[in-house]
Amino acid sequence: MANRVNRDVIIVGAGIVGCATAYFLAREGVGVAVLDPNGIAAGASGRNNGLVEHPYDAATAGLFDETVELLAQVLGGDFPREPIGTLLLTHDQASAQALERHYSAFPSLAARALDPDQARAAEPLLAPGLWACTLSTGHPIMPVEATTAFAELAQAEGAEFVLGEPLALVRDADQVRGVSFGSDEYRADRILICAGAASTAVLNGLVRPEIITPLWGVIVSVELPTRPRHPLIEGALAAAHGSGDVEIEAPFTLLDSPSWLAVGSTMLEGDEPDGDSWAPRLLARGCEFVPSIAQAEVKGILACARPRAFDNRPILGRVPGQDQLWIAAGHGGRGMSIGAASARLVAEAIVAGHDAAISDRISARRLTG
Ligand SMILES: Cc1cc2nc3c(=O)[nH]c(=O)nc-3n(C[C@H](O)[C@H](O)[C@H](O)COP(=O)(O)OP(=O)(O)OC[C@H]3O[C@@H](n4cnc5c(N)ncnc54)[C@H](O)[C@@H]3O)c2cc1C
Repeated sequence: MANRVNRDVIIVGAGIVGCATAYFLAREGVGVAVLDPNGIAAGASGRNNGLVEHPYDAATAGLFDETVELLAQVLGGDFPREPIGTLLLTHDQASAQALERHYSAFPSLAARALDPDQARAAEPLLAPGLWACTLSTGHPIMPVEATTAFAELAQAEGAEFVLGEPLALVRDADQVRGVSFGSDEYRADRILICAGAASTAVLNGLVRPEIITPLWGVIVSVELPTRPRHPLIEGALAAAHGSGDVEIEAPFTLLDSPSWLAVGSTMLEGDEPDGDSWAPRLLARGCEFVPSIAQAEVKGILACARPRAFDNRPILGRVPGQDQLWIAAGHGGRGMSIGAASARLVAEAIVAGHDAAISDRISARRLTG
């Protein structure tokens, strides 16, 4: 017989979204339990590049601005308040100018095409002949620390974290009423799924599985003789984040965070890729953009799933057809950049008792039909 535990809100998943939502709810006096079979920051929130970066999407640009403010409050002096500037790399002038035009839709980015001399002056590690588009964005952080900082704040406000047991939703007819977790059964008025790429597995048939699917990122953690001054991203990848189309399965990135310097990254659908077989390809391709990658000392190889939503925007709010079930997931490759503000928005909606304030473009209402 399961031990019954009652709370106001149960959150499934202790990534950046679950931990931050727990904090925003707990500070309003809501009784919260966060359940995670694996641990705090055990998913993508502990295994990413830690670049807080503009989402290049008008639907979520406001969430980015607010997340920058929230991370500055929570991380204090550890958060680099000024953007360090990101370089999108291309092989020709026309592509660099196309990127400049594309990103000019966001004036705060101050998009500007750079010729090869200007690009190498900005980033001496670059191979000769590359063009670039510079964007005024990029705040490198330690993703695990950002996530645990929210978890600690939530705990200080009374939220409970219960970790390390298998979990499943408890249904009463077609309505979800609670979560079984190990030998306990948690019941709550609101059950919020923040399980990242595992969210549709947790929802187990309540939504179509294709609404959130894994987009696998393999990254190679390296040491280089000289570290880059800026995040370096192949232009096609950045455009892909805006349009939602992944144009190349392994676009070049070189991203330096306080956690690690990483050469990446794959954008792979399906099953978990074999990191060991991808690493040499990522490094070889990286040498075309940054020749000193040929001297890289490999420190580790990571493979982790981005929780990609069907239309590349987060899914926030009440699950259609369910009285008590909510979702905050599907942040793709931008969870560190917009997740904290998503969490604040969802917490506010849960306290209000309805999700009308969540805009249609990021709302769970788009799961209808
Ligand atoms: C290689 C890579 C690089 C990235 N780089 C960046 C970046 O530079 N900037 C950026 O903004 N974003 C980046 N991201 C995206 C970012 O990591 C994610 O969007 C974000 O961490 C998602 O947070 P989350 O809380 O929704 O999910 P997660 O952090 O994945 O948390 C979900 C939690 O749910 C738990 N869980 C609950 N139930 C289950 C279950 N049944 N089975 C399994 N797990 C369960 C997991 O244990 C996990 O702790 C990157 C992602 C990857 C993979």
